[in-house]
Amino acid sequence: MIVIMEKRATPEQVQHVVARVEELGFRAHLSRGEERTIIGVIGDERPLSTEVLEVLEGVERVVPVLQPFKLASRDFKPENSVIRIGDVKVGGDEIVVMAGPCAVESREQIFETAWAVKEAGAKVLRGGAYKPRTSPYTFQGLGIAGLELLGEVRETVGIPVVSEVMSVTEIDVMSRYVDVFQTGARNMQNYSLLQEVGKASLPVLLKRGMMCTIHEWLMSAEYILSNRNYNVILCERGIRTFETATRNTLDINAVPVAKQLTHLPVIVDPSHATGKANLVAAAAKAAVAAGADGLIIEVHPNPDRALSDGAQSIKPEALQKLMVELRQIAQAIGRRIA
Ligand code: PEP
Ligand code: MN
Repeated sequence: MIVIMEKRATPEQVQHVVARVEELGFRAHLSRGEERTIIGVIGDERPLSTEVLEVLEGVERVVPVLQPFKLASRDFKPENSVIRIGDVKVGGDEIVVMAGPCAVESREQIFETAWAVKEAGAKVLRGGAYKPRTSPYTFQGLGIAGLELLGEVRETVGIPVVSEVMSVTEIDVMSRYVDVFQTGARNMQNYSLLQEVGKASLPVLLKRGMMCTIHEWLMSAEYILSNRNYNVILCERGIRTFETATRNTLDINAVPVAKQLTHLPVIVDPSHATGKANLVAAAAKAAVAAGADGLIIEVHPNPDRALSDGAQSIKPEALQKLMVELRQIAQAIGRRIA
């Protein structure tokens, strides 16, 4: 990091900062300009908080040079990470579409949807068994029965499955039935859950919290990576803004920003980002054009009767049509969708 001294800083104050930097185990590089003195702190600064030096007298500002999300950053690993979900690779040239209902509701519903999304070209089936609902009085998911259906459908249809884990107590049982753990927007800052999925062996799809910055999102990824699970896929799913026309506001900027900062794949959820079925296709196309490595889309054979998120669920026919358009966009930017 770089310590910028105040204009009026005395030589004693500069000396004191240098001594403190050395005491902390770093080397100090002094640069005395006409206007002010700048001290370069040499060594791996990431465990060091800027506050330790900011409190010293004569210091105006401390500017970190390295990103605090060490393992997630491109400083640490310049090339893209490719995360494997069975035979599916997320983060390579191919853009991966994940699709399925918000929640597993019944055998008929999940089987019908799984066959339909696979047929449309989706590579991963989504479906919640544990649902984080705003109201405790609404459908909370089928729990274990839902997981068993997911286990059955992935075998029969031959498609890997992503499903949300809400609590550390669900990790063991879920790992028998699913291929990817989804951690939801509401749990992005549930650090004990992140640490535990970090110790698990399945990849993690880390959704961005609806009120969290990109920086905080990457720090959450760091909780998983620092527990040695390097298979993290980031998912932008819309953030809360003053706008009420849509359920959330798709932060399309987050895609290229995150791609610049991290080597991890970044996907987009146009369903929760918009909350409206008739906006999903536009948001999905924008995401692919912006460089997303994949999409996760809510699809239901009968959205009118869905037990959760029907208003933002598209029908299988709409997914089929959208895939044709997405393939064209992918091709235009030198990528592909199978
Ligand atoms: C979901 O995927 O159904 C869900 C609840 O997502 P989020 O955590 O983004 O709200
Ligand atoms: Mn949903």
